[in-house]
Amino acid sequence: MKKLKVAVIGVGHLGRFHAEKYQQLADIELVAVCDADKKRCTAVAETLKVMPVYDFRELIDQVDAVSIVTPTMTHYAIAKQFLEAGVHVLLEKPITETLDEAQDLIQTALKKQVVFQIGHIERFNPAVIALEKMVNKPLLIESIRTGPFQPRNLDVSVVQDLMIHDIDIIQSIHPVPIKKIDALGFSIMTDSTDVANVRLTFEDGCVANLTANRTAPKKERNLKVYQADAHIFVDCQAQTVAIYRRQGEMQDSLTEHPIQKTDTLADQIQSFIAAIRLGNQPKVGGEQGRKALETALEIRLAMLEREWVF
Ligand code: NAD
Repeated sequence: MKKLKVAVIGVGHLGRFHAEKYQQLADIELVAVCDADKKRCTAVAETLKVMPVYDFRELIDQVDAVSIVTPTMTHYAIAKQFLEAGVHVLLEKPITETLDEAQDLIQTALKKQVVFQIGHIERFNPAVIALEKMVNKPLLIESIRTGPFQPRNLDVSVVQDLMIHDIDIIQSIHPVPIKKIDALGFSIMTDSTDVANVRLTFEDGCVANLTANRTAPKKERNLKVYQADAHIFVDCQAQTVAIYRRQGEMQDSLTEHPIQKTDTLADQIQSFIAAIRLGNQPKVGGEQGRKALETALEIRLAMLEREWVF
């Protein structure tokens, strides 16, 4: 099989791992890593023994596929040029800054018949995949996503940065239109929202309460789904699922669902490559990325009325 030529654009905190995963695949040739920060680019290139490139435009004619792992404000401009050139793109979340940009990238990918995948990595989390199969008319969904402050990805609020993962999961497990959004957000470390608390009311009456905080003492990624036949507790970090079901015995009704733990980034990248090889739609394509962004932006609007900045 002919090797696919791949490059990673942006090898900061996350992009470095994308590059490592590609390099572990037998049918991939990682031709270069690219970063506008020359020192960082050279260091990663030396470690991985690949070519460093400081301007992504030099790679456009040299690759079949790219991962774009740069700050959100650069996503549209970089992805547009690769898609226009017929290159398959795995673009990190959030898809873009605006819905118009997202729509334009989706149309370009369609026109050029290339795979356009968005990095909503939790969809490859085996605990989330198990949850998807258990959800049945949820009544209440709760999500918490927190972590210590990091001086990265501050070009977007915590809603587009962290909460968008849960927005995407919730909309995929409960694809019902949202009727009402109540949202509260405030800042601590940055000029944007660092803490967000959101209540989504769906047209069928289900409610989702989402909290995201990028100024928290510890990292948490928890989802809870309450429905008539079960209460399901997912720890996305530990990749565990526990379920309460009504049983004859009131005790011992909490059971651990067996989960085969996986490397979700490797799974996401393998799924991208498989979509390219087979000519399939990606598991999380541009439209899903656009939908998550749409809800994130509606949440931001709902917050504006009562956003507090300390
Ligand atoms: P980072 O700041 O550590 O890395 C971004 C890198 O992009 C930097 O090295 C920067 O120099 C480089 N860069 C900026 N503009 C560039 C350009 N025009 N050309 C080439 N390189 C350029 O940030 P990060 O934490 O790695 O995040 C990067 C992206 O990945 C963001 O979109 C973020 O939302 C996403 N991300 C996703 C997840 C996830 O769970 N899916 C986790 C972390 C980050």
